[in-house]
Amino acid sequence: MNTVHSFKKDAARVSGDIDHRRIIHYNMSKYDMAVSAGKERYQNLGLAKDIASDIKDTAIKHLPYYLELFEQNAINNGAEVLWAEDSNDLIKQLSSVLQAEQCKMLVKSKSMVTEEIELNKELDKIGIESVETDLGEFIVQVAGEKPYHIVTPAMHKSKQDIADLFNAHFQTDKSLTAQELTGFVRNLLRKKFINADVGVTGANFLCADEGAVAVTENEGNALLSSSFPKLHIVIAGIEKVIPGIEQLPLFWPLLAAHGTGQQLTVYSNVFFGPKKEQELDGPERMIIFLLDNKRSEIYQNENVKKSLKCIRCGACLNACPVYKNIGGYTYGTTYSGPIGSVLSPYFKGFRDYNHLSFASSLCGMCEEVCPVKIPLTDMLLYNRQLAQLNQSIIDKGTNAFLFRILSSRQLMNSFGGKLKSTFFKIVKNRFIGRKKDLSPFSEKTFNEQWKKHIKR
Ligand code: SF4
Repeated sequence: MNTVHSFKKDAARVSGDIDHRRIIHYNMSKYDMAVSAGKERYQNLGLAKDIASDIKDTAIKHLPYYLELFEQNAINNGAEVLWAEDSNDLIKQLSSVLQAEQCKMLVKSKSMVTEEIELNKELDKIGIESVETDLGEFIVQVAGEKPYHIVTPAMHKSKQDIADLFNAHFQTDKSLTAQELTGFVRNLLRKKFINADVGVTGANFLCADEGAVAVTENEGNALLSSSFPKLHIVIAGIEKVIPGIEQLPLFWPLLAAHGTGQQLTVYSNVFFGPKKEQELDGPERMIIFLLDNKRSEIYQNENVKKSLKCIRCGACLNACPVYKNIGGYTYGTTYSGPIGSVLSPYFKGFRDYNHLSFASSLCGMCEEVCPVKIPLTDMLLYNRQLAQLNQSIIDKGTNAFLFRILSSRQLMNSFGGKLKSTFFKIVKNRFIGRKKDLSPFSEKTFNEQWKKHIKR
């Protein structure tokens, strides 16, 4: 089944799944309350967003300069910096590093870019166990699923779903409380941290002036992943760079407030290279992979360049009426919701993913909530224009035919109401699906009815 058909089919199924809607609406309502409270802590949220947006604009405008500055300073800190053109290139380079280290098992913290390159699947192919250490990521890994949401990967699961899942995999009691389930995972992961050969993290921000990697998290697992094993590997998209560490006091609270409603996430880590001579703990070696994977194509396109400003807070997903109804998996991509609909056609190809440009009501809520003021609706509209160019010959022909008919009153009047209703029903089924109905055409044309009205 192609991506468009599976999208339509899954959207219809998920939006009609009452249990799924109940869980998502419950979890999102908790999110809405927390985020409203988080935003109220700001005296002037609008000003904070303006400044954050300007800084990100500057960082993206001068992306090559800041990336090179970051690279030089990270090397000065003792880290190794490797560039990867795409997923294949990164996996190839990473595999040779891991094989040279004789890595059998690695621990990793939550990172969307590692989902983007399907790291776990690729490592599995070369016999390396990759253990997710974020609780939500761990749950979806055990379930054999992908993250449902970019901030809350297991948002679609209730506490009982998780208790049942753990019972099936680890024979734990089905009646465990949330705290007991968390405690069980904590104990299990502690052993993995101690025995792992390598730790992998993503990066929320790359601080160019200092060559430092900033990672924010709530469970301490990124800190453990980076400090227990002797090799710390960072995998980051090139768009993560910001001018310097002095901007973190602005970005960290903004990300926390919009992502989870917190004032600040529990652990805010800044890594300045591997362990130094006089330091007692930390990794002996640190490698930072900078991944392009189509980002430089987006960078060169002025119409969508600002999508690289995204700090992956997830706020636009939670605000989106389409996401709330069709859920995260229906998109069939790593990045879902409005930002995913903008980025995915570039990351995965317009031919298979241009339909996501239409997965929006264009209500504008996504850009209203975005902390870095990304013009998401303009970008979706721009992508729609590109999508037209990628239409199939049948769709192009149908559109041209419709345009011709609808722009001529004489042609519209030449067919009877029944014929017009049948024709538009066929066209409607192809373009907007079978579930929506159009009103039938009147037997009498508009002109006939108008003349009758005037005569009266
Ligand atoms: S586009 Fe904006 S709201 Fe959406 S995830 Fe990115 S930063 Fe957050």
